Amino acid sequence: MAIVTTEGICLKTHALGDTSRIATFYTRDFGLQKFVAKGARRTPSRFGFALEPLSRSRVVFYLKPDRDLQLLSRADVLDPLGSRLASLQRLAYAQAALELMDRVVWGEEPHAELFDLLRATIEADAVAPIAALPALTIAFELQLASIMGYRPRLDACANCSAAVSARRLFSPARGGLLCDRCAAQEPGSIALSADALAGIALLLSRPVAEAGEYVEVRRAWEILRVVEQFLRHHFQRFQGLRSLEVLRALPDEPESQETKWPA
Ligand SMILES: [Zn+2]
Repeated sequence: MAIVTTEGICLKTHALGDTSRIATFYTRDFGLQKFVAKGARRTPSRFGFALEPLSRSRVVFYLKPDRDLQLLSRADVLDPLGSRLASLQRLAYAQAALELMDRVVWGEEPHAELFDLLRATIEADAVAPIAALPALTIAFELQLASIMGYRPRLDACANCSAAVSARRLFSPARGGLLCDRCAAQEPGSIALSADALAGIALLLSRPVAEAGEYVEVRRAWEILRVVEQFLRHHFQRFQGLRSLEVLRALPDEPESQETKWPA
């Protein structure tokens, strides 16, 4: 057993008995970790905002390899992001990023770039223009899938590596564009507009915080349909983002119509 320190973002918590909590964190150096925070319910001040979803903290814990739960020793909040998010829309989009992590990522294998991507995404959810939030979320979905080993292939047929079809046929199951020959045998492929294909390429390769600058909201919905089918094919536990369903129930505000996640 070793005592270790790293940075982590709280994804979710639940009660453990009358006095403690279990908190799921994505950490920079130790991947996904579940912590027992003893006394967190009896003395909320002990861990403060660190156990609020979206908070980023420096955490100290006793690492026992191959254990499902680790004992949290202390947590110092670096950024209580959730408490800074005033709008329900921003909160829903930031929560969607946490939800996706919880669905798609497993195990202790560290991916520092995934931690940095999550941090950049939820921080951008707090400050980007509201209309940019759908594109930002799709960029996060695509880049998260890439880090987990499922980068959509756009440069050649995802099935046979031949030149891609001029009809821009994307197969969620094969994970990329297809050639004409493979597309003829793949009924589930989707014809993309030139703008949507360019959008996917940019969302994959550019910083997430800039996503709204090159993908408009209306184009984002076309891209979303493809990306969500792609995620469903490759990540069994992904069933769509429930955090965003709350947006459909919000009253219409000047900006909100365009950013409502489609059913
Ligand atoms: Zn092919």
